[in-house]
Amino acid sequence: MNTTVRAVNRVVTGGSTHRSRPSPRSQPPTTRLLSLGAGIQSSTVLLLACEGVIPRFDYALFADTGWEPRAVYENLARLRAYAAKFGIPVRTVSAGNIRDDALDPAHRFVSMPLHVLNPDGSRGLARRQCTSEYKIGPLKKAARELLGYPHPKRVPRGVYAEQSIGISVDEFARAKDSGVQYLRNVFPLLELGWDRARCVEYLAERGFGDTVKSACVGCPFHGNAGWRWIRDHDPDGWADAVAFDKAIRDGYPHATTQGQELRGQYFLHRSCQPLDHVDLDTPPTRKRHLRLVTAESTHGSDVNPDVDEDGDPDGCSPWSCRSGEPVTATGTGAGKRAA
Ligand code: SF4
Repeated sequence: MNTTVRAVNRVVTGGSTHRSRPSPRSQPPTTRLLSLGAGIQSSTVLLLACEGVIPRFDYALFADTGWEPRAVYENLARLRAYAAKFGIPVRTVSAGNIRDDALDPAHRFVSMPLHVLNPDGSRGLARRQCTSEYKIGPLKKAARELLGYPHPKRVPRGVYAEQSIGISVDEFARAKDSGVQYLRNVFPLLELGWDRARCVEYLAERGFGDTVKSACVGCPFHGNAGWRWIRDHDPDGWADAVAFDKAIRDGYPHATTQGQELRGQYFLHRSCQPLDHVDLDTPPTRKRHLRLVTAESTHGSDVNPDVDEDGDPDGCSPWSCRSGEPVTATGTGAGKRAA
């Protein structure tokens, strides 16, 4: 393991941010969990635990937004059956269906990172809290229940779940602390020094080579490659995304029925064009290269061929998704909340 990765592990897992967090040496975890997104990295971690390369999990938890591509649900079913043979239960947790909730005038605000075209022609990004609401929240709730201290019971000091997160060395900067005392995040792929390519190779060796990255069908972080994949491999998902894109043009129905002032138009595609009007097939003009994607590199410029094509290469993983980060937006619409 190189020094940078070791340093990241020390920062994230070393207990520097929470004085009350138990030392890994002094107190073993009460339970071991995997945050399973059913994408490349977390699927790899589950299989590594099945094979005994890393400690086994008491549970693997899949936080379901209700709007993942069909291929992700199929992979989840396959992983569930595989892990069961090794005594690792895969459980689904959920806070609802993000698509249905967003379109329901009676449902409270759903905050996806929609692209905003402001009345003055500038562009911005709507506040994003969807990962927190639909993934992190249900996972924390389940962890408390599995520890025996469902909300609002106080979790005693020293009682905690070790939660494995599938982050590979090429995305180590996204490794984060859980932010709560009763969940301690660990990163097996960082410890092993595995990058995404190694994970893909490992999955292929075990018959899981067709694993795709996990993210909501209508995630505004998709690049053209992601949208193209949905269009070409998941026609029903594509139709749902196009219909959703049209439905939120003037803001979420909940906001409009509440009489909130409309500011601009809202889009799933970062070009701020209707999804079914975007040319997804013309290849980017700039030479492709390996890069670290950050919130800034994705949204800090209107013209970024790499991001236009790839979007977020790592999907939306709880505790590493950029939707858990502070709002950053461009243009005069910066920081505006989607109506
Ligand atoms: S995949 Fe996208 S839309 Fe879905 S929860 Fe993550 S950031 Fe939000």
